[in-house]
Amino acid sequence: MSATYDPNNIFAKILKGEIPSVKLYEDADVVAFMDVMPQAPGHLLVIPRQGSRNLLDADPAVLAKLMPVVQKLALAAKEAFEADGIYVAQFNEPAAGQTVFHLHFHVIPRHDGQPLKPHSGGMEDIEVLKVNAEKIKACL
Ligand code: 5GP
Repeated sequence: MSATYDPNNIFAKILKGEIPSVKLYEDADVVAFMDVMPQAPGHLLVIPRQGSRNLLDADPAVLAKLMPVVQKLALAAKEAFEADGIYVAQFNEPAAGQTVFHLHFHVIPRHDGQPLKPHSGGMEDIEVLKVNAEKIKACL
């Protein structure tokens, strides 16, 4: 039996404004905010407002709205951090590494020769996240 979407997951709470986040972008369908445990400076998340556990149960019409925003944020993060590349990641179910069960895309600036920190590692200082968010927003 496959698991169902839990409307009380942490990203759903961020969407409802029940817990804070450092926002980067929002429109009628999509929200982007900083990851609190960044694997590299500028690590951000892009999520749809509509709830689905992950890519596997998402409405294709939602994906069509989401992906242009992933691209937009990837371009902004690349410019803001003068990155050599951008890593876009998306995990489906625990076996694949998913820990928060609301569809999201990770967008992570990468620099040649610099390894990523572990997934879901240490919490970043909120002031650092805010400074990094301003850098990205300036490039949107
Ligand atoms: P997943 O493993 O599900 O692909 O990744 C979930 C991501 O959400 C992780 O990178 C983790 O650092 C991030 N995360 C977990 N809890 C919170 C939170 O409360 N706020 C934010 N902004 N990010 C979170």
